[in-house]
Amino acid sequence: MIRVPRVPGRVRGAATLALLASMLALVLVGLAAEPASADTIELVSQSERADNPASLVFTARVRAAAGLKSARLVYKVKNPDADVGGGGEVPVSPGNEIDVSYSLTTNGSERYIPVGSSFSYHWEFEDSTGAKVSGPEKEFVFLDGRYQWRSRTEGTAPPVTVYWYGANESRAQIALDATTVSLRQTGDLLETRVTYPIKVVVYASESDGEAAQRPRGRSFDATVQTGGTRVAPDLVLVFVPDVDVVRHEVGHIVTHVAGDGPFAQLPSWIDEGTAVWAQGSPGSGYLGALALALMGDSTLNLRSMQSATNRPEEVNLFYGQAFSTVDHLIKTYGQARFAELYRTFRAGTSMDDALQKVYGFDQNGLYNEWRKSKNLPELTFATPAAGAGPVTEATRPPLGVPSGSSSGQATSVPPQSQPGTTGEGTAPEVRGGGLPASGIAVLAGTVLLALALGGGAFMLLRRKPAPTEG
Ligand SMILES: [Zn+2]
Repeated sequence: MIRVPRVPGRVRGAATLALLASMLALVLVGLAAEPASADTIELVSQSERADNPASLVFTARVRAAAGLKSARLVYKVKNPDADVGGGGEVPVSPGNEIDVSYSLTTNGSERYIPVGSSFSYHWEFEDSTGAKVSGPEKEFVFLDGRYQWRSRTEGTAPPVTVYWYGANESRAQIALDATTVSLRQTGDLLETRVTYPIKVVVYASESDGEAAQRPRGRSFDATVQTGGTRVAPDLVLVFVPDVDVVRHEVGHIVTHVAGDGPFAQLPSWIDEGTAVWAQGSPGSGYLGALALALMGDSTLNLRSMQSATNRPEEVNLFYGQAFSTVDHLIKTYGQARFAELYRTFRAGTSMDDALQKVYGFDQNGLYNEWRKSKNLPELTFATPAAGAGPVTEATRPPLGVPSGSSSGQATSVPPQSQPGTTGEGTAPEVRGGGLPASGIAVLAGTVLLALALGGGAFMLLRRKPAPTEG
């Protein structure tokens, strides 16, 4: 039981809370059995539960001798970039001892707070005399109540905590190890380090975790399997417990730190391309789709790849070409300049200007250089290499039946392994794309789509006025 002495006025701030906490401790020790008196509001108990990923219910039992006039829950979702806050009034009933409850939708059209998020919250009460009291701040990790979760934390730079349930422990360890590898390798590539703790929530299957995903539309979900999603700067959900899924998503944690600046987010082609690079192998689904597009000269204009595709049939090509473009930059000009590109973009320039500064060409120039490296003809762009201009449509030669030479070209798939990674030839079958009709054309990376959506939702949430205090 927690008893809170009445405090005049509104309670705010960590110092006040700390004081309250110490007062609470005293009260607990000395007065635990004392009945409510006229000058107290007592928070008898508080708890929170999530029966599923869609909602979170906060409950409290309160004794107020004078009767409660209002109760309010104030929560924060911890986020390394910026905490997201909210809360609201809850109905109170007459009586000296009542239960109050606040229900928060966590996966709905109005907001998406992913499983694995760290919460901090407290209750605020006012009794009928106008006296106000704030309960102690409580922290917890929001986990899917349908499962019995366990956790393990390893490492210090940064610490990584993996959550799993049931007989999933070996996969959890695989996820933990893959996270460590990706943090190091992607960090080395981009010359950066993630400084905050990372959480990885491992579901046993996509169906187990379906309710934890942000819905993206039925046709997309039917054809694209989500292997995992980076849902916050420090949080990855894994639905297909596979090494490359984890490496990819953790790669996004690193690209976010290295490239997303205060003014702009990385274009999707470089974000996804780097995340696929972080995998042990890009996988045959992505590379196969790229090979086909090269054969028919039907690759995507790099400028159309600023955000992830929402066309299921384009997903494999999108990731394959994004990877190939990034791989081209790294292999041709080296790791150091690639890291410099990230730093330059993050500092606040456009991608065109950052490319120009580091490599001497903009996105049109990069697209053409990449095309040339694949034996595709260069394109003439409608507007000259103007950085911030409107998206330009490339004029491209009419598609033709692939000639003998070009099809020969197409079958020569770009090198799959990156320097420093031991060949993980055992990429899971599940990622093998090429089976879109059956709906199992997975794409580890495809998840990113969800991520983009989830991230967007998070941003929306953040823009809402957040009535938090303290
Ligand atoms: Zn991705």
